[in-house]
Amino acid sequence: MDEDNTEMSRSQGQKTFICPECGEPFTGIPPDKNHSTVTLDDKDAYEKATGTVIKRIIDCEECGRLTKLYWYQEKPQSAPP
Ligand SMILES: [Zn+2]
Repeated sequence: MDEDNTEMSRSQGQKTFICPECGEPFTGIPPDKNHSTVTLDDKDAYEKATGTVIKRIIDCEECGRLTKLYWYQEKPQSAPP
């Protein structure tokens, strides 16, 4: 069996997550094009973000667990002097 990570549609920058409770996959959709990076850790988000962090709460269709996603825009790699 081939494990082919075929990229189906990246047009909207969707990210797939796994529910930590039941293992059910779910999809996170960026709120807008400026917030295309996502983390589950709010500290991580506020540390790395430039500008606003947008919180989205996803409830698992399988078990109902709430998962918080933090969408943000990453700071530029090299800051000008
Ligand atoms: Zn679940």
